[in-house]
Amino acid sequence: MSVTASPPAVRSFCITRSAKIVSRPRVVMAVRSNTISAASILTKLQKDCATPLPVLRHVSDAMADDMRAGLATEDGSDLKMILSYVDALPTGNEKGLFYALDLGGTNFRVLRVQLGGKEERVISTEFEQVSIPPELMFGTSEELFDFIASGLAKFAQKEGGKFHLQQGRTRETGFTFSFPVKQTSIDSGILIKWTKGFAVSGTAGKDVVACLNEAMKRQELDMRVSALVNDAVGTLAGARYWDDDVMVAVILGTGTNACYVERIDAIPKLQGPSSKSGRTIVNTEWGAFSNGLPLTEFDREMDAESINPHEQIFEKTISGMYLGEIVRRVLLRMAEGAELFGHSVPEELLMPFALRTPDICAMQKDTSKDLEEVGLILYDVVGVNSCTNARKVVIDVCDTIAKRGGRLAGAGIVGILQKMEHNSKGLIFGKRTVVAMDGGLYEHYPQYRRYLQEAVTELLGPEISRNIVIEHSKDGSGIGAALLAATNSKYGHDF
Ligand code: ADP
Ligand code: MG
Repeated sequence: MSVTASPPAVRSFCITRSAKIVSRPRVVMAVRSNTISAASILTKLQKDCATPLPVLRHVSDAMADDMRAGLATEDGSDLKMILSYVDALPTGNEKGLFYALDLGGTNFRVLRVQLGGKEERVISTEFEQVSIPPELMFGTSEELFDFIASGLAKFAQKEGGKFHLQQGRTRETGFTFSFPVKQTSIDSGILIKWTKGFAVSGTAGKDVVACLNEAMKRQELDMRVSALVNDAVGTLAGARYWDDDVMVAVILGTGTNACYVERIDAIPKLQGPSSKSGRTIVNTEWGAFSNGLPLTEFDREMDAESINPHEQIFEKTISGMYLGEIVRRVLLRMAEGAELFGHSVPEELLMPFALRTPDICAMQKDTSKDLEEVGLILYDVVGVNSCTNARKVVIDVCDTIAKRGGRLAGAGIVGILQKMEHNSKGLIFGKRTVVAMDGGLYEHYPQYRRYLQEAVTELLGPEISRNIVIEHSKDGSGIGAALLAATNSKYGHDF
């Protein structure tokens, strides 16, 4: 694929206002200088973000090497390679009533499923979503877990119809908890730290399953957690239930992560009893990868100003939380340094995270001649008036950042597959292998998805890439957690 920047069609920039746009007062700042052109900023950006085949290859090889180092010793690599303690995946034989609870962002979801074994599969499923009151994100651990347990209790009370618990049993639930956890067994794990805006006191350093079990007891809810997983592991389990060829799961949402099925004998750091199946799911925490990524001054500035500088560099380059922000920083430079939007800079454009990834995705969807929709979004979101030429530059910036993100995500996936193939010759590349994908970024951003697939095909070549199926597994993680509760049921599941 060509990575040369197409000559941007920009010389001068006019100020026009779409007929649809109503004028509103705005605070503006005078531009500082006008010594460079937007075209030259764009050309440099495209050069710095370029991901030709050698760069992709370097990234996929480095990902595989970092995985090996992380499997060899604790703290041996940027990649933590956390053992999930999931060493039995759903087979389809699971039967009975199981619950799942998903806490990963601003909402929590509860779900129940009645499983009917190989023949009947999923007999029925029901779910509810509850948003978490913001004050609970800053409250105490007890308050948060009581709120969750009471939501689960209310949901359980409505059980009926096709759902029934076998006599003499306690209800069991899977718990999808997408914050960094040091897992200690399939049903326990210590919270390392809260992320994604949560600052709950009294949970860090504690077993989150114990916190939930205690809250369920306080709510007089007779249920036990039989599997603690994160969203990537849940997605792998959910997708595997329908398709035995699923070996990898990748989340591309606000953040990013990936997990895969690993052979026990390829994990030198693993001590203690090995799994019956000889395999286990490893959670890579690949967001922390950083080796050889094509980064720009905009990425470095964003990282330096972030709450976790020098951490999660891969995540900051490819995931939904950051793509819009990188674009905003480039546009700000073009506005200040090259008068892309006229003689002044609206203050909205100065606000970190004002432009979100869904905005850049929506702008890229505009195929009209005048890019009217792009103009509206720029005005509504960052207070910018733009002419058609300026809008074209904006689209080129969005495309450059989405392309780099998608292609690097694709190279990361190939890195995981390469690592697996190395240990099991022919069992990955020589047969159908499925990568289950989930997350809002992958689901809603078609160009990003296309770039990701292109990079995988370029790296693997036409023959092998025909065997590698990259597939959206929507909301697989909820049902995956319920299935893992079944697989790890204290009652067993062969009945
Ligand atoms: P989370 O990762 O928090 O669990 P999701 O998987 O739902 O949540 O992903 C949400 C993220 O997906 C948003 O933060 C955003 O970056 C991205 N996203 C959502 N909608 C779109 C869209 N239309 N286009 C591009 N990205 C989107
Ligand atoms: Mg999620």
